[in-house]
Amino acid sequence: MNALLPVRPEPPVEPPLALLAELTHRCPLQCPYCANPLELERAAAELDTATWLRVLNEAAALGVLQVHFSGGEPTARKDLLELVRHAASCGLYSNLITSGVMLDAASLAALAEAGLDHVQLSFQDADAAQADRIGGYRNGHARKLVVARQIREAGLPLTANFVVHRQNLDRLPEMLALGQELGASRIEVAHVQYYGWGLVNRAALMPSRAQLERANAAVAQARADLRGRITIDYVVPDYYAARPKACMGGWARRIINITPAGLALPCHAAETLRGFQWPSVRTVPLGAVWRDDPGFARFRGTAWMPEPCRSCDQREVDWGGCRCQAFALTGDAAATDPACALSPSHFMMADAVAAAEAEAAAAEAPELVYRRIRTAALVK
Ligand code: SF4
Ligand code: SF4
Repeated sequence: MNALLPVRPEPPVEPPLALLAELTHRCPLQCPYCANPLELERAAAELDTATWLRVLNEAAALGVLQVHFSGGEPTARKDLLELVRHAASCGLYSNLITSGVMLDAASLAALAEAGLDHVQLSFQDADAAQADRIGGYRNGHARKLVVARQIREAGLPLTANFVVHRQNLDRLPEMLALGQELGASRIEVAHVQYYGWGLVNRAALMPSRAQLERANAAVAQARADLRGRITIDYVVPDYYAARPKACMGGWARRIINITPAGLALPCHAAETLRGFQWPSVRTVPLGAVWRDDPGFARFRGTAWMPEPCRSCDQREVDWGGCRCQAFALTGDAAATDPACALSPSHFMMADAVAAAEAEAAAAEAPELVYRRIRTAALVK
């Protein structure tokens, strides 16, 4: 860990709002921008049911309000129903983040009966052939259309999630229309984040500025048309922004993430940072992780910040941006996020954008590297 700056958490440490429970890295899809690490966990390394039940108890006792069951594909876990039922019994609001391809009417009815509150269903595109190509899963899109209807029939609110990038961004109007057709109460348009698999595929996935401007206009129009009926979540990708996002709502401020093998992280990409020993919920109670772990305290608040963040009036708005992006691009997790125009490394974003523009002008995009255990060994 960088020892140049003092580790100085700023009391009081508020409880996290949400627990992101990554139940498994198993997934039938192979999205080339997957947020999972390159080093995917195998099933044998996953936490068992009893440990997850204890973690849910500890989360509720800590003051967590929401649990997001995620993955990989969380429905690959045979104990999902039991975990959902237990979360409900602990008073936790539960959200299932899923590709949907392993769900059906019966399993959705059972999840609703167990107390599931919400489903976020991901789509790779509005065009079936393109969606199946990007997800690396044949007939997946058709299956998702059926499952979306079944989610609504089970009485569950639906968020339609579209991950966008150069290869599908021109179909954003069709994606927004699809979200409406499916009866989604919320549509989330999420630009690819460029770390892990996304960074491996950055040259193939980074949109051009012209694409981004068309997408921004499509979202603005849809927001005007759907005001009061459907909420649209949309954030401009960091590479084209002048200021970074408040990544995870600030390091160790709102969210605690548990990996399939039980590591507790302040962010799902924090395993990419060098020099951190993340605690395991197998041996450390969640409350102790949140309050006492030095890695969680390392970038909490503002005391750790270098200039220009230290004296910036935005420091409690964006919390200095993303530590994982800072590390991925500069090699220093404590650096100002290069997404910020005030960062001395901001030129790196401009260079990546210029490369994307050149790639977009070329006839052929680079081949996608799909998220598979065997391809990880080739790109690490
Ligand atoms: S992004 Fe794609 S590959 Fe990764 S977990 Fe989600 S559906 Fe599976
Ligand atoms: S200098 Fe730091 S705090 Fe200020 S806008 Fe940039 S990243 Fe945010």
